[in-house]
Amino acid sequence: MTYSTKYRDLKPYAIEKTRAMIGDKGNTIWKQSKTRQAEIMEDWLSEMSKTYQIDKPTLKLYAEDCGSGMYVPELNLILLPKCSVVTLLHEFKHALQMQKDRKNTEKIARGWSISLFYRAKPKLYRTAVRKHVLLYA
Ligand SMILES: [Zn+2]
Repeated sequence: MTYSTKYRDLKPYAIEKTRAMIGDKGNTIWKQSKTRQAEIMEDWLSEMSKTYQIDKPTLKLYAEDCGSGMYVPELNLILLPKCSVVTLLHEFKHALQMQKDRKNTEKIARGWSISLFYRAKPKLYRTAVRKHVLLYA
């Protein structure tokens, strides 16, 4: 069983924006300064929130005491302990489900985020699986 093909009806624009957020080899988001990483993620959040018609969540990157990342619905706030694209996707999906009053489970957030990551960057996904850097794949 893989989460990578769980969601096949992803919006092409969401895939495109996610690909752009990650960036190209040698110049990926992980190679940028912390300030730049936050800017890139903010831009992605703006575009995605518009696309899915939800209130843009506030992002706190390099936050402490938030485990591997979390979404706080009362504050519409995403906390990330590090620059993790898959976790941003995952927490955004929680925001989307909560705000649209749809079913919100870990499985849904996992499936959606992994599928989107896979569709945006299939080679990078496979490398991540091989290196065991994805919690779920
Ligand atoms: Zn979650």
